[in-house]
Amino acid sequence: MRSYSLIKGAKILLSQEKGFQPSPKPSLPGIKICLAYPNSYFLGMSNLGFQLIYGMLSQRPNLICERVFLPSKDEEEEYRRTKSLLFSLESQIPIRDFEIIAFSLSFELDYLNILRILKLGKIPLFSQERGEDDPLIIAGGACTFLNPEPVASFFDFLVVGEGEEVILEIVELVGRGKGQGSRAKRELLKELSKIPGVYVPSLYEVSYKKDGTIKEVKADKGAPMRIKKRWVKKMSSPPFIITPNTSFKNTYLVELSRGCPFSCRFCMVRACYAPYRIRKKEEIISSINEGLRYTDTIGLLGAAVSAYPRLEEIISYLNEKSAKVKISSLYLGTLNEEIISSLKEGGQRTLTLGLEVGTGKMRRVINKKIDKKVIDLIAKYNFRQLKLYFMIGLPGEEEEDLRAIALLVQEILTILNSQTKVVVNVTPFIPKPYTPFQWVGMEDIKVIAGKLRFLRDFLRRDKRVELNLESSRWALIEAALSRGDRRVSEVIVKAEEKGGNFKDWQDAFEETNLTPSFYANRKREKDEVFPWQSIEGGLNRERLWKEYQKGLEIGDS
Ligand code: SF4
Repeated sequence: MRSYSLIKGAKILLSQEKGFQPSPKPSLPGIKICLAYPNSYFLGMSNLGFQLIYGMLSQRPNLICERVFLPSKDEEEEYRRTKSLLFSLESQIPIRDFEIIAFSLSFELDYLNILRILKLGKIPLFSQERGEDDPLIIAGGACTFLNPEPVASFFDFLVVGEGEEVILEIVELVGRGKGQGSRAKRELLKELSKIPGVYVPSLYEVSYKKDGTIKEVKADKGAPMRIKKRWVKKMSSPPFIITPNTSFKNTYLVELSRGCPFSCRFCMVRACYAPYRIRKKEEIISSINEGLRYTDTIGLLGAAVSAYPRLEEIISYLNEKSAKVKISSLYLGTLNEEIISSLKEGGQRTLTLGLEVGTGKMRRVINKKIDKKVIDLIAKYNFRQLKLYFMIGLPGEEEEDLRAIALLVQEILTILNSQTKVVVNVTPFIPKPYTPFQWVGMEDIKVIAGKLRFLRDFLRRDKRVELNLESSRWALIEAALSRGDRRVSEVIVKAEEKGGNFKDWQDAFEETNLTPSFYANRKREKDEVFPWQSIEGGLNRERLWKEYQKGLEIGDS
């Protein structure tokens, strides 16, 4: 049965897309690949990686590439009422009719939605339950670069590294094996495991010690012991879709750089996207010109946009063209007056700064340089809004460091024009894999909740401050998912069945004889076998350990 209201909803979304619009080609004989984003259309289409892969694959002849997103609650209800199978956005083909469904995983808390999408598509959840007629379920994205283990059992294989670099090799190999029967799938997976950057979890067996930590990981004959991360040597610029239904709203996105030249000890950008690469100015201008055919607003993207060496020239060019410019986040260590004034001239109303901490000691602990004088410069240009990001619960943080965050916000308020609104975002620190702080245990959530209360009470006195405090409970679940092992997949299944609220997660852990704190709060031994050890992240473990020790020494001083 087909639901006309669901089909109509898909057509409305498509009709609002501008820029790159591949024509549907459902009758082509080539491989059909459906890109799945485990959250709403709004969030999926705001995701650079998702747009990049879609733009790249959709341009290939003999390849059908469509998209699917998590339906809203009402749509989900409609799928159930009409017994419709979850279908793709472009041609409204049931997703189970594609040869490959490729998930993009950027956030651990989206893991439940993988299961929701598979269930609505009537596709078995675990790779070992799927037969020869089921599509290959695969995933890529930042979560798979760092630690795919908690979701590894759901996928036939995962892409470790930047998808643009490896996806065509995968499609070609799958295309060659198409229609070769039941033995072919097992053999195909073995063949796929030989492509650098492809991780086939079913070829690895994990055993555990009595204390719950990993004893060893054994690889099948022929499968690599460690999966080498792939990265793009020459960044290309596939076309982007512009739509009002994203956080960028009618903005054409142009990537300036990938990776980051800095090494903040808490940050996973370096682990995910090293090495730091920049695009040539001429290529960027050409992408900007392409974007200006559809809109007057250009979004410049990169982990630390203000570190791009010719940023002033790019912004001047945009100003000459009377284009509006949007930049997602700026690094204070490289921000100067020229950039700030050009941004103001280019119509940027909000500046976003990752200040992270309040004291010089904590800046040294996390290895992030911040020039506070830049705040005076920002104040000179009267932006409408300043968004500040802070982190609490970092190693070495003491009461005075927490208080310093509140005092720093107060100091900034006194410098800024009284019309400028300040949005303060505070997130609990989660020690991420492949960062120097991967050995650290996350702070207890009761302590974090107390710190958040302190900041709330201190900062809400000023009406110009809008406070966004991230929940300590959800940070605990996110930490457990980001540091978990394969056993966590059962927890995810149970949490989804129960509904997915915090209590459901707690019960799901308990019923599986696991605890979130085992993964999140436990300080790791130097030589512990990490669940993410099969991924060769590019950063040497010994070097990370030394960086960790350096951070701890500063914190203790
Ligand atoms: S926090 Fe920002 S500047 Fe530091 S490493 Fe991460 S992306 Fe780079």
